[in-house]
Amino acid sequence: MRAIFVTDLHGSKWKYERLFEAAKDFRAKVVINGGDMLPRNELFRQGEFITDYLDNHFARFNSAGIYYLCYLGNDDLRIFDQLFEETCNKYSFVVCLAQREFEIGGYTFVGMNLVADYPFRLKDRCRMDTDDYIFQGQFGKGLLSTSDGWQEIDDWFTYAKKLPTIEEELDRLVRPDDMANSVYVLHMPPYRLGLDKCSDGAEAGSKAIYNFLKKYQPKLSLHGHIHESPEVSGRWYAKLDRTICIQPGQLNEFTYVTIDLSTMKFDRIKEQCVA
Ligand SMILES: [Zn+2]
Repeated sequence: MRAIFVTDLHGSKWKYERLFEAAKDFRAKVVINGGDMLPRNELFRQGEFITDYLDNHFARFNSAGIYYLCYLGNDDLRIFDQLFEETCNKYSFVVCLAQREFEIGGYTFVGMNLVADYPFRLKDRCRMDTDDYIFQGQFGKGLLSTSDGWQEIDDWFTYAKKLPTIEEELDRLVRPDDMANSVYVLHMPPYRLGLDKCSDGAEAGSKAIYNFLKKYQPKLSLHGHIHESPEVSGRWYAKLDRTICIQPGQLNEFTYVTIDLSTMKFDRIKEQCVA
């Protein structure tokens, strides 16, 4: 079964247009979009991108009979979750995979779009990674989106300690019986594999995700979040025992991965913007 994985498009329309062409050319049965789907120039207007652009984008895949599994990411405000889900639900081939599973052609896809905390202020989808997680220095007070604007969190560390950790969120997910035919779509990459390297050299991946993948050994895990990592570390995939972990990155070029799940042949493709 042929699949395309892409992540962190951040509202880039030319990349979305190319994604549809790439899916048709590759004869993909499923496209997986790993989050951070909306533009981040004016966060409170992200809903307009869902209504004015994504709705039609989804319709094209639906008409072509190509499954489209997706979710919002840490830069997509949670106040738009409902609108996003309702828009997905208009199309039988489009699935919001956040904290959910979906089966296609004998493969089970499981999605999770929460991330381990970072220094940035937007905390809509942030969690402590594990119980013993040590917070990084912060760029300012934490912010949560609300329909009335930003809610400032006076003490983000105390607030975050009351939320489930990434480790607990992973445990809460539906766990397929047949891990050998399962694909985990986790916006956050695991640590230790070279898939989480920031431009300053810091390795910001999740210990909880690493431990989960190592323990349960799905066929494949798909990640994003740290756009520059493949260029910094020189790695865009890694093996964690029997699990293949892929993190294609996303910089100026349109970057995606084609995967044949039957043969496990996969390639990373980068296309320049041709205006
Ligand atoms: Zn991103």
